[in-house]
Amino acid sequence: MNKTRKLLSIAGSDPSGGAGIQADLKTFSAFGCYGMAAITALTAQNTRGVVAAFPVAPDIVAAQIAAVMADIPPDAVKIGMVATPEIAAAIAGALGAAPRNVVLDPVLIPTQGASLAAAGLERALMTTLLPLARLVTPNIFEASALSETPLARTTDQMIAQGRMLVDAGAKAALVKGGDLSGEPVDVLVADGETRLFHGRRVATRHTHGTGCALSSAIAAGLAKGEPLIDAIAAAKVWLEGALEAADGLELGEGRGPPNH
Ligand code: PLP
Repeated sequence: MNKTRKLLSIAGSDPSGGAGIQADLKTFSAFGCYGMAAITALTAQNTRGVVAAFPVAPDIVAAQIAAVMADIPPDAVKIGMVATPEIAAAIAGALGAAPRNVVLDPVLIPTQGASLAAAGLERALMTTLLPLARLVTPNIFEASALSETPLARTTDQMIAQGRMLVDAGAKAALVKGGDLSGEPVDVLVADGETRLFHGRRVATRHTHGTGCALSSAIAAGLAKGEPLIDAIAAAKVWLEGALEAADGLELGEGRGPPNH
C-alpha cells in the first residue's frame, strides 16, 4: 500500500476558493496527498480583489498547529499568508524543532485590493520564518521587499536577491520572474549554485492564487521525497497546464484562479 503523504498549509482563507488555504488543499489533492490547514487570517475577497483581511489571534494559530503536529506530523509544511509579526512568532514557536520540508511563500500584497501584511511583517519573515524554510518562493515584488533592494529587472538581480534570502537563513530561494515581461524565468539559488527554470507564458488573466498553488505543489513533491529541483520542475509543468485550462472555468467578473 502507498504511504499516505500528509501536508499542512498554514495560510489565510480565501472564501472565493482561488487562493490561500482553499487553493492549497485543492493542490494537495491534485497531487494525491492528504491536506490539512491551520488558518492565520480570514479574508473577504472574490475575483475582483481583496476587500478586507482579519488576522486570527496568534495563540489560536499556535493551537491549531500544535494540535496537528501532536497527532498527524506532516511530511511537508507550506506557509503562506502570515498577516502579522506576532503570528510569525506563533508559527515558529508551534512548529518547534523545524520539520524538514517547509516551503515559505512570503505573501505580502495581493495583485488586487487590500494589503495582506501588517507593518513589520517583512522583517519578521526574514528573522523568524526564513531560517525554517527549505525553500522560500517570492515573486519579484516580495523578493525586493524582503531583501530591501530595488525591484529586479534582470535575472542577475533576481539571483542577487535570492542569495540574500539564502544568506538570511533559507536553505534555498526560488525567485519567480513571471511579473517581468517576456517568457517567464524563475531562478533557484541553493548551496551556492544557481539554476534557471524557463517557463512558458500562458495567455490568460486568470492567475489568482498561482503563487499559493505553486508553493503547495512544490511542497507536495517534497513530501513525496522528490529532490527539490524535480519538485519545482513538476510543479511548474502542472501549473502551466492549469493556467492553460483556466479560461474554461467560468467564475466571477475579475481574475479567477487557474483550473486545477
Ligand atoms: N488571498 C490569500 C489568502 C492569499 O494567500 C493570496 C496570495 O498569495 C492572495 C489572496 C493573493 O492572490 P493573488 O495575488 O494571486 O490574486
